Amino acid sequence: MIVEKLELGMFASNCYIVGDESNKAGMIIDPGAEGNNILKKAEDLELEIKYIVLTHSHIDHVGALKEVKEATGAQIAIHDSDAESLQSRNPMNMMFRLSLKAPPPPDILLKGGDTIDVGNLHFLVLHTPGHTQGGICLLGEGVVFSGDTLFNFGIGRFDMPGGNGHQLLNSIHTKLMVLPDSTTVYPGHGPATTIGTERNWNPFLRSQPPF
Ligand SMILES: [Zn+2]
Ligand SMILES: [Zn+2]
Repeated sequence: MIVEKLELGMFASNCYIVGDESNKAGMIIDPGAEGNNILKKAEDLELEIKYIVLTHSHIDHVGALKEVKEATGAQIAIHDSDAESLQSRNPMNMMFRLSLKAPPPPDILLKGGDTIDVGNLHFLVLHTPGHTQGGICLLGEGVVFSGDTLFNFGIGRFDMPGGNGHQLLNSIHTKLMVLPDSTTVYPGHGPATTIGTERNWNPFLRSQPPF
């Protein structure tokens, strides 16, 4: 499996380009900004992008959606519960009006338990509300793309519209902490980690102080 991380834009959001080496099928997760850089990398990798998957609707993850959609023709997938906010004029998306890059509508509305196939790679949609109501993680091939749900030594904010701290922790514990320790975590911001590292050391997930 090809996994390329691009850290993009003023919010330093991670965009991932994922591909199947054997048949060059690919997907782009969270095209947050700098569409030209995303498209250049996908082209360098010679991938045919089938899907653009959004872990959630915040602008720092969808800022280059229009550009990437128009260039690739790939299908946009987002959880049902974040589909409306993707195109609404809520404060998080005010910048769309300034940049005149209103995002195109999604092609696929996801629910937890759905699968996304990219060539011979298979990913399961985990619905992990709490950062937003339609936040998802994508699990497959020994890795999980965690969006703004779980970070290296951190968790997502839950003080924005649609956020809920109790729900976020519940999502992390019931959907992510049940995965094997060796699972690689590719978050929406910051460096990669593993489920085992976060289980043992993430200060937000410990009920007791570590020492
Ligand atoms: Zn976010
Ligand atoms: Zn973010």
